[in-house]
Amino acid sequence: MSIPLVDLKAQYAAIKPEIDAAMQRVVNNTSFILGKEVGEFEKNFAAFSRVQHCIGTDSGTAALHLALLLCDVKPGDEVITTTHTFIATAEVISVIGAKPVFVDIDPRTYNIDPHLIERAITPRSKAIIPVHLYGQPAEMDPILDLARKHNLKIIEDAAQAHGAEYRGRRAGTLGDLACFSFYPGKNLGAYGDAGALVTNNAELAERARMLRDHGRREKYTHQIVGYGYRLDALQAAILGAKLPHLEQGNARRRAIADYYTERLTNLGIVTPYVPPHITPVYHIYCIRAKNRDGLQNHLKARGIEAGIHYPIPLHLQPVYQNLGYKLGDFPHAEQAANEILSLPMYPEMTNTLVNQVVDAVREFYQ
Ligand SMILES: *Cc1c(COP(=O)(O)O)cnc(C)c1O
Repeated sequence: MSIPLVDLKAQYAAIKPEIDAAMQRVVNNTSFILGKEVGEFEKNFAAFSRVQHCIGTDSGTAALHLALLLCDVKPGDEVITTTHTFIATAEVISVIGAKPVFVDIDPRTYNIDPHLIERAITPRSKAIIPVHLYGQPAEMDPILDLARKHNLKIIEDAAQAHGAEYRGRRAGTLGDLACFSFYPGKNLGAYGDAGALVTNNAELAERARMLRDHGRREKYTHQIVGYGYRLDALQAAILGAKLPHLEQGNARRRAIADYYTERLTNLGIVTPYVPPHITPVYHIYCIRAKNRDGLQNHLKARGIEAGIHYPIPLHLQPVYQNLGYKLGDFPHAEQAANEILSLPMYPEMTNTLVNQVVDAVREFYQ
């Protein structure tokens, strides 16, 4: 029996009637773009995230792009972010013509190290994008202090952190704006591309709604230059059907993670470090392993899929060679890239499958 990193078939099987009904509803009423389904989902996801405004978009990347525009980031500006993230976080900065300024990670949490941010700030700095990587919020209090001190905007990349908490506050409510992705494999995933921007700022929300839909409030009156970044009704209906299961799914992820952590001690493996004031949602369960590639191959031979998130830090990506970074600039991120391994993690994973993964890992080191 093979064990995938994420099993979307098992998820569909668990809630098929609800998903089928949601999709059929959209097909029947043929209101495919924005409309009631999108409005309902936005309202419900805002309530889930305990934030006032949610604006659905056609991807997490689009939401990040809009967030930078809303923070008035312009060509030549600088935006600070972590080097250890998915490319989209930095890509949107470049798309605007601004410059991504990378910072190394805290080697325990894999999130941006707040102590290294201040030295990256220059007169051109406009914003910071902390990423809540693997579903664990970044250390936000010192980041928010820096933002206030230097008059910078904070955009949370919460693409992996639906429902995660920092000091009792939900990811997505901590900065000026936050971006979620509903890419199929995320903790809340659509059946295609989808994302959302959330904020407590009514003015930014209003502008975001115009920007995502060709700069308009009414059908044929265009106030500003906008984009075709709308969430579609089919995705919204599917997300709406899945949302009531998200809390329970996150709890199951935590239970699996706690079990992994308990069973993988004393093997020389580093299991996730979770500070006491953080409630993670384990989008990814990431270990640090000696002979990582050997372990990955050992698991693969036993039908167990493990992943690497991410194998190349952004400052070493070919696309960013023009920024002038070199190997050695961010040693913690570089070392992590060589040692990290993501084990299978999804709420529908049975205890039997979790034990198979544990046994296979233990076998490799014994
Ligand atoms: C998934 C992801 C994104 C991009 O979201 P899309 O919906 O795929 O565009 C951005 N940042 C991070 C950290 C992600 O994991």
